[in-house]
Amino acid sequence: MSAIEVSKLVKQFNGQTVLHGIDLEVKSGEVVAIIGPSGSGKTTLLRSINLLEEPDSGTIKVGNIQIDSSQGMHRQKEPIRRLRQQVGFVFQSFNLFPHRSVLENIIEGPVIVKREAKAQAVVRARQLLEKVGLQGKESSYPRSLSGGQQQRVAIARALAMQPEVILFDEPTSALDPELVGEVLSTIRALAQEKRTLVIVTHEMSFARDVADRAIFMDQGRIVEQGPARDLFTSPQQPRTRQFLEKFL
Ligand code: ADP
Repeated sequence: MSAIEVSKLVKQFNGQTVLHGIDLEVKSGEVVAIIGPSGSGKTTLLRSINLLEEPDSGTIKVGNIQIDSSQGMHRQKEPIRRLRQQVGFVFQSFNLFPHRSVLENIIEGPVIVKREAKAQAVVRARQLLEKVGLQGKESSYPRSLSGGQQQRVAIARALAMQPEVILFDEPTSALDPELVGEVLSTIRALAQEKRTLVIVTHEMSFARDVADRAIFMDQGRIVEQGPARDLFTSPQQPRTRQFLEKFL
């Protein structure tokens, strides 16, 4: 079953096309890494999947909810709201609420958006904190945590909504090098649980080891994709080879 289906997605900024009709299908339980040079459209593609960017044309489907850009976003507010509930998003810069404790950050979505009972949301938040290795940090505030800890809170916050898929937008690129590993192992553990994950990343060895499939993008197009091991060990397209050589 497919968890995500993107069809003929076009996105322009200021008259410049940055996504040229992208088709992408992600199966349920699949881990997909998106790689490519800066400016190739990776983040825009990811943000379009949960309509943080409004496509100029094309369709986005998550689970059984489909958004057709030709219908106009304002007429699809309710399906967009339901689609977003199915999609967790982890930002490069964490985006935690600075004036809320770790626990409050995690229960906000379940309690406010999904109207879950607070007691139940708290129980799950504590379990999730343990899962990301941050038990005991419930009352801490984001500013007192390291970047790696903040990103793990952000992952727990995404998981708290029990989404069908989680999108990661360069989740380690704002971190000091010594903190990258702890976030990558958290994501690796999610991959091992057979969750559906789409990860934009510059961590090539992580992508090779953890992803089922890797997608190489350049200039707003998918240039090459395939099983992650194959793409990294024997890229077929010259542009993919040229890009990967920089990481050797
Ligand atoms: P990547 O994630 O591969 O680095 P992006 O998706 O961030 O690429 O950017 C693709 C192109 O779209 C770039 O040329 C970038 O400058 C442009 N772009 C992205 N976001 C915006 C925006 N909000 N306004 C104008 N241009 C943008």
